[in-house]
Amino acid sequence: MTRVAIALGSNLGDRLGNLRAAVAALEEVGVAVVRRSFAWETPPVPADQPPFLNAAVLGETSLPPAPLLAALKGIEHALGRRPGRRWGPRPIDLDILFYGDLHLETPDLTIPHPRIAERAFVLAPLSEILEGPLPVLGTSALHLLERTGLQGARRLCAL
Ligand code: ATP
Ligand code: CA
Ligand code: CA
Repeated sequence: MTRVAIALGSNLGDRLGNLRAAVAALEEVGVAVVRRSFAWETPPVPADQPPFLNAAVLGETSLPPAPLLAALKGIEHALGRRPGRRWGPRPIDLDILFYGDLHLETPDLTIPHPRIAERAFVLAPLSEILEGPLPVLGTSALHLLERTGLQGARRLCAL
């Protein structure tokens, strides 16, 4: 089993319901969720769309990275996500943040997720579930968050 961290985001439809449905679906595809952050409301980037709810979970899985990504895409599709513009509005977005201490760069999958360190909407929930140094990056989410600032993210409610 490998410890994985997954980021969740939603800014269409029942945002909290979408996040909760995605966590339930993770269990279905073989990710045992062991920790979950609160839901955070965050300003959208780019700004011309509704605000997001973001969260992060820690899980244990025996799925290898590529099948895990395929499973996440299957959950996104099941929750109504269809191809749209890059960084556009979506009912659900599921990203692999970390996969054990794996460092992977392929055309379809980069681990750790390459934009963690600059995104308060990832770091704030991540700091609630991973306290120590982050895999590969070697520094804590809280430390990185001190550099970015909260960027308007606010802690909303339990997932
Ligand atoms: P961002 O990656 O900046 O958060 P996004 O989540 O909006 O953007 P998507 O359109 O959801 O981007 O995904 C584009 C592609 O990114 C996916 O089809 C997938 O192949 C690839 N990808 C690369 N690394 C990862 C990762 N760690 N987690 C999820 N998808 C990834
Ligand atoms: Ca994303
Ligand atoms: Ca994504």
